Amino acid sequence: MSELEINNLVLAFGGVKAINDVSFSVERGEVYAIIGPNGAGKSTIFNAISRIYTPKSGSIKFQGRELLDMQAHEVVNTGIARTFQNIELFENATVLNNLLVGRASKVRTGAFSEFFFTPRVRREEHEHRKKVEEILDLLAMQHHRYERVADLSYGARKNVELARALCAEPELLLLDEPASGLNPEETTDMSFWLKDIKEELGVTIVMVEHDMNLVGRIADRVLALAGGEVLAVGSVTEVQSNPIVQAAYLGVTQ
Ligand code: ADP
Ligand code: MG
Repeated sequence: MSELEINNLVLAFGGVKAINDVSFSVERGEVYAIIGPNGAGKSTIFNAISRIYTPKSGSIKFQGRELLDMQAHEVVNTGIARTFQNIELFENATVLNNLLVGRASKVRTGAFSEFFFTPRVRREEHEHRKKVEEILDLLAMQHHRYERVADLSYGARKNVELARALCAEPELLLLDEPASGLNPEETTDMSFWLKDIKEELGVTIVMVEHDMNLVGRIADRVLALAGGEVLAVGSVTEVQSNPIVQAAYLGVTQ
């Protein structure tokens, strides 16, 4: 069984098909990149997986479970976390508080026990802090912990968003353009973080990314999408040298 299996996905906005019969599957532990020109439908696929958008037809199975039968908040609890193309964080809160919010899907105690601050709540609080510390260490972000997100550089904010997603302890991480807006040095750092996330945490990663250098460094497989349709799937070199993919980037119709 594949970790993520998408079959015959169709999604339309007011009659215009943004995703037209897309099928692909991602194996556990893989780094899977989705590339394609602007408007190809890449973010729409992520929004369909997160259940922000409802497809017209098709199927999205995560670890064998149909996500289209679930609501958005239920998808979070299955072990899927994501980042957004436009960073979405609590700008006026500290890094630490943003990461603690990332733990929200893991909160088990109810309002009643929280009110009385039972030992179980204390234990849980300790557990959340410990996990957040681990992620801050992993991404070398300890020095930013008490800083307000709004005061950070763009690159650091992107890291906070990645960290927040990791705090949910996902098994599948969806990253929408993790390197966009980063300088070359930050992009290199990002490739190391993503490698560590794959190797040390065993997380499966699906990422939308334009930087082919980054894709080449970390992706096991690449899917090229254009006009809501799959053009090719293969290794980075296979996909990059595919004439249909090249034509799509040039805007040439076949
Ligand atoms: P990509 O991420 O590959 O650049 P998107 O998935 O964001 O592309 O968009 C694919 C297509 O769907 C585009 O034509 C875009 O205009 C359209 N689209 C995306 N989201 C919406 C929306 N909420 N309402 C209407 N059209 C949308
Ligand atoms: Mg996009």
